[in-house]
Amino acid sequence: MGKLLRDKNILVMGVANKWSIAWGIAQRFIKEDANIAYTYFGEKSRANLEKFLMEEGIENPALISCDVSRDEDIERAFEELKEKVGVLHGVVHSIAFADKDELQGYYYDTSREGYMTAQNISSYSLVAVSKHAKPLMNEGGGIITLSYLGAERAVKNYNVMGVAKAALEASVRYLAVDLGPENITVNSISAGPIKTTSAKGIRDFSSMLKVFEDASPMKRLVKTEEVANVALFLCSELGTGVTGENIHVDCGYHIAG
Ligand code: NAD
Repeated sequence: MGKLLRDKNILVMGVANKWSIAWGIAQRFIKEDANIAYTYFGEKSRANLEKFLMEEGIENPALISCDVSRDEDIERAFEELKEKVGVLHGVVHSIAFADKDELQGYYYDTSREGYMTAQNISSYSLVAVSKHAKPLMNEGGGIITLSYLGAERAVKNYNVMGVAKAALEASVRYLAVDLGPENITVNSISAGPIKTTSAKGIRDFSSMLKVFEDASPMKRLVKTEEVANVALFLCSELGTGVTGENIHVDCGYHIAG
C-alpha cells in the first residue's frame, strides 16, 4: 500500500507543544505524505510549530491563527485556508478548554460562565469548524475530534469538561448525518489519559493515570502514537465507511470494571 495521505490536504487544529495530541497526529500524517495546514492559538504555539516543522524539514507550512471562541476568527481562518490549500480532505479538531477551577470539587459548583466557556471552546467550535470546512471538502473526507470517557461516566474532577465532551460526542452524530451526503465522515476518538498541558489542569491527574494503568485490560497507559494511528485510519481511505462513531483508544479501560 502506498502512502495513505499522499495528495491529501489536512487541517490540524490544536498543536500547542510537543506533548499535544494534535502534534502526535500531525507527525503520523506527515509520515503518510499529508500536506498539512495548521491553526494555532497564541504566539507561543506558533513558535513551537515553526520549530517542529523546521525539524521535520517542512518548508513554508500554512500556519493560520485561530481563536475558536470567535466566529470572525474561524471565518477568517477558513478564508485564508481556502487561498492557501483550496481543497481540504480532512480536519483534526484537537481543542478543549475549561478554567482550572472548574476541574475539581463538586460539579454542582460549576459557574454559568465556566460552563459556557467549556461548551463554547470544547464543543461548539466543532460545529462552526465543520460548517466552514464543508465547502472546502468538496471531494469528501474525514473530520475528527478528541473526546474522553468523562462524556459517558462521571469521572472525578473532570466535571464541566465531561459535560462539554458529551455535547461534543452528540454533535459528532448530528454532523455525521448532515455531512454524510457530501461524503464527509465525522467521528470522535475517546482517548485514554495522556500527560499533556491540558490534562495537567485536571486536579489529581497523576493519580488518574495510576488508576487507569492498574484497571485497564492492557495494564498500561495509551500512547499518543496509538491515538494518531486511529486518527490516520479515520482520515484516510481506510475509514471511509465509518461515521458518527466514537472510538475508544484507551487500552480497553472503558470496558473494564
Ligand atoms: P493540549 O493542551 O496540547 O491541546 C489543547 C489545545 O487547545 C491547545 O493547542 C490550545 O491552544 C487549544 N485551545 C485552547 N483554547 C483555544 C481557543 N480558544 N482557540 C483555539 N485553540 C484553543 O492538550 P491535549 O491533551 O493534546 O488536548 C487535545 C484534545 O484531546 C482536547 O480536546 C482534549 O480534551 C482531548 N483529550 C485529551 C486527553 C488527555 O488525557 N490529554 C484525553 C482525551 C481527550
